[in-house]
Amino acid sequence: MTRLTPAFMQGSLERLSGHRNEPERVAAILADAKSRYAVFSGDKLLVHAGPAGSDGIWWHDRADLPNAISGVEPVLLGLDADGVAHFAMQAADPELQLGAGQAAVDLRSIALQGLVDDGMLGVAAQARALLHWHVRHRFCSNCGATTVAGEAGYKRVCGACSAEHFPRTDPVVIIAVVRGSSMLLGRSGRFSPTMYSTLAGFVEPGETAEDAARREVEEESGIKVGAVRYVMSQPWPFPANLMIGMIGEGLSEAIDIDPDELADARWFSFDEVRAMCDGRHPEELEIPPSISIAHHLILAALDGR
Ligand SMILES: [Zn+2]
Repeated sequence: MTRLTPAFMQGSLERLSGHRNEPERVAAILADAKSRYAVFSGDKLLVHAGPAGSDGIWWHDRADLPNAISGVEPVLLGLDADGVAHFAMQAADPELQLGAGQAAVDLRSIALQGLVDDGMLGVAAQARALLHWHVRHRFCSNCGATTVAGEAGYKRVCGACSAEHFPRTDPVVIIAVVRGSSMLLGRSGRFSPTMYSTLAGFVEPGETAEDAARREVEEESGIKVGAVRYVMSQPWPFPANLMIGMIGEGLSEAIDIDPDELADARWFSFDEVRAMCDGRHPEELEIPPSISIAHHLILAALDGR
């Protein structure tokens, strides 16, 4: 299945961000028998194993939830169009016993296989990123005491020093570098030997996204980049990144890869990149699947968008 947009970009719920600090309202929707709960077992989401339910996620009622991991309460995802609240929770058991018709699947596989509809894929990413943060922040990074969740799961507060901690989103720049009608693509040692993609890296403290993109490309490939422009962004819940997609102008040609970062990098002609996109490259080289922002950045750069 070729997607027209990257995965995880749409969330079909109203997030209620302006109401999370109203404890009585949050308590009322938590207690509402109509509220529905998505359950993660380790990093896997419980979905329908066979032909999907309405959106593919296996929504639990409050009455049939498994035991939650200690210190991690359900997080509020939002309200649907009918006003039904949706939550996510982390099962204590990372190898949860599955019921008939249930499967526990990681989000990447869910996206690749189309197991959850688009409106809920973004919600699943929201849930995964939030729960991953809660599981790893049960203790205060200021004083080491126990923290408790507040604001329906959008902060944690230390019981000893009162420090407030907020969920992380880590910005990553990802950039298609173009020079004339050639595109710079690289292959990480973690990729399949035939897959080439746009270069990417984390934004560092005190750095603009544009400078981070220029720095990462030069570090990894030796290529200097001039003007860069923003194209789109994508939540990438592995565990909590925001991919900031850009297209940049290559100012130099000689490639000098950092072997710690890349196994290979090359300038590909646009014709060759089109062949990679269409699955007809003579060396069977390919670009990443259409769940990824890299795929869509490459198409945008080819089209001059
Ligand atoms: Zn503290």
